[in-house]
Order: sequence, then structure tokens, then C-alpha cells
Amino acid sequence: MNGQVFGVGMKLAARVESVSPSMTLIIDAKAKAMKAEGIDVCSFSAGEPDFNTPKHIVEAAKAALEQGKTRYGPAAGEPRLREAIAQKLQRDNGLCYGADNILVTNGGKQSIFNLMLAMIEPGDEVIIPAPFWVSYPEMVKLAEGTPVILPTTVENQFKVSPEQIRQAITPKTKLLVFNTPSNPTGMVYTPDEVRAIAQVAVESDLWILSDEIYEKILYDGAQHLSIGAASPEAYERSVVCSGFAKTYAMTGWRVGFLAGPVPLVKAATKIQGHSTSNVCTFAQYGAIAAYENSQDCVQEMLAAFAERRRYMLDALNAMPGLECPKPDGAFYMFPSIAKTGRSSLDFCSELLDQHQVATVPGAAFGADDCIRLSYATDLDTIKRGMERLEKFLHGIL
Ligand code: PLP
Repeated sequence: MNGQVFGVGMKLAARVESVSPSMTLIIDAKAKAMKAEGIDVCSFSAGEPDFNTPKHIVEAAKAALEQGKTRYGPAAGEPRLREAIAQKLQRDNGLCYGADNILVTNGGKQSIFNLMLAMIEPGDEVIIPAPFWVSYPEMVKLAEGTPVILPTTVENQFKVSPEQIRQAITPKTKLLVFNTPSNPTGMVYTPDEVRAIAQVAVESDLWILSDEIYEKILYDGAQHLSIGAASPEAYERSVVCSGFAKTYAMTGWRVGFLAGPVPLVKAATKIQGHSTSNVCTFAQYGAIAAYENSQDCVQEMLAAFAERRRYMLDALNAMPGLECPKPDGAFYMFPSIAKTGRSSLDFCSELLDQHQVATVPGAAFGADDCIRLSYATDLDTIKRGMERLEKFLHGIL
């Protein structure tokens, strides 16, 4: 039975009207519904590793359940996890944080949302290089700020230049969103490029939201530099938003974190204390196990991603009408479909309906001449999907 459909006379808040639903979740839901009907869909839409969470992490959460870690905990997170995250940031990223600088959040997503709510005032401008992760501009709007989108092109590897940022700064600019390795492009800014961008933020007194959720998913010797480690001044004005989902195949666990100056962490904790409270207590024990044990599981997943990446990149670049730069990180390809003359939404809809291949329109990421394919899926699906995509392109070109 369906529930009530019309809320008589209900007027929703303007802040909701201005926000679009997540297109990645919509396409993924459509592909899953087709699969549920028994249709053989090759899905490249979800930004989610296809591996199971490593066993030692699952066992740690099970043990926590057995030990009764099933109650409310501190809103900012279990003290041992906050400490483990601080140590990881010192060890791996050269960022000098203590447990007080850490807030454990419901995934990386909530860390970004909390940051926006804690920092953005109505009318504040937030610079977001495009292509961008779908939720950044919507979160800025929910915080009643103004997203300022900086376009990039396939020719410059989808990377924004320091000069572009400089030119976009106005007296209202508060924050720069910086995501490397990038979703959706897979591009990784080199350490020199990171330092140059950090310099602009420092000169112009901007805060930096550094989304480092893909930091461990790197190929061909690419290096990740946390922008906060670029200089002591950059450290003072940067906030790391990250999580366990992508590195440890823990998407459903909903554990992430925010790391930054204590006043910001306290403000974000206050917001979280009145919205979601603590992250699921026993899930946090899984996250502790992820950081406190061997990282071999990460290397194993990385080896599989690397093989899939090679296959998909070669296949895409051999197809008519596509142009795909080599991504050095994350698990996405972001080819240009400009030569097909279609909008990204039309391209993806036709491809899904006619050949049962699910991809995400670049329009969702601020780049309507591209599509996103995730290769966090098995090689057999990738091979079959590439054959179907090629057939589709031959049909339309
Ligand atoms: N940041 C980026 C760039 C992402 O791609 C994602 C997830 O797709 C997130 C943040 C949020 O991840 P989580 O699942 O930890 O909330």
C-alpha cells in the first residue's frame, strides 16, 4: 500500500528547492532495478569497490559487538579511533594533529557537510574546480553559500591552475574545495602543483577543504601530497575530509573523519551532536582495526584496480569518438564524448536502454561533454561492457 502522496499546502524550504538530487545515485538505482528484473546490466556507475571489507576489519567489528560496544558513544568519536586517525595523518601525511583535531563522521560525506555548515555564512563564495564530486555545490547551497565553479578541460588534464583560482577570488571568497585524487576524473595533482595552489590560498587568506578520500589509490608512481603539508601556512588554513570507504572497501560502514583546527572541530562536533550523534559504535572498531593493522589488503585491491584500469583505458582510447586522459588515481575514467554530438544525459540514457551499460553523465559533475565510468568492478564485466560500448559508438557515429 502506498502512503500519503500529497502534503496538502506544504511549502518546502527554499534551500531544498535549490538542490538537485544526486544523479549518481539515481543512475545506480536504475541499473540495480534493471538487474533485479533479470536484465544483464554492465554497471560502471557506482563509486564503490566491489571487494568485501577485509576480514580482520569485519572480525574487529564483530568482537566489538560481542563486547557490548552497542551504546551511545562520544559525539566526536571513540577516543581510540580519534587517536589512530591523528597518528595516521602524522605518519602518512606529515600533518601534525592530535586526537582533539579529529571528528569521526558518518562517512567522508558528513565531514564535508559539517564543515560547510560550520564555516559558510549566507553569501560566502566557495571555489569548486570542475569536474567536481556531485555533492560539493549542493552542500554549499544547503549551507546558503554560493558555489563558484571553475571549468577545466581535457587538454589541461582537468586540472585547475593557480591563476584561475586567483582570478576567481572576490572579497566574499571563503573556501577552496580541493580534491586529489579526483572523483570524477581520476587526476592527481603533482606535489609541485599542490604547493602552487596552496600558495594562492595562503596569499588570499582562503580556507582549504582538502578531500583526500582517494589518497591511497594511486598508479604508476603518482604521489599524493596533502595540501596542508605544503607549508606551515597552508597547514593552518586547511581541513582534511576523508574516510575509510574507498581504501578499505567500507562504503556501507559509514565511517569518515574531519581533521583541522580545534575550534572548527568543536563547531562541527556541536552540529553533529544535534544531528546524528556518534557514528555507529561497533563500526568505529572496524575502522580502528583498518588503521592499526597491516596495509597489505590495500595493496591487493590496488593491484586489481591497476589491471582493470589498464584494460579499460586501452579499450576506451581505441574506440571511435572518445578521448580519455590517463587517470593516475581513484577508480574512474572520464572520457570526453564531445565528438558524438550528444549531451551526456542522452548518451548515458541511450547506452543504458539500448546496450544495458550503466555510466554516469558528466553533467552531474559539471562537465556535459564527458561521461564517468567506474572500474571498481570485475574484469569480466569491464570486458563485456567495453564491447557493448564500442558497438553503441559504431551505431551512432
Ligand atoms: N568525497 C569524494 C570525492 C567521494 O567520491 C565520495 C564518495 O563517493 C565521498 C567524498 C564520500 O564518501 P563516503 O562514502 O565516505 O561518505
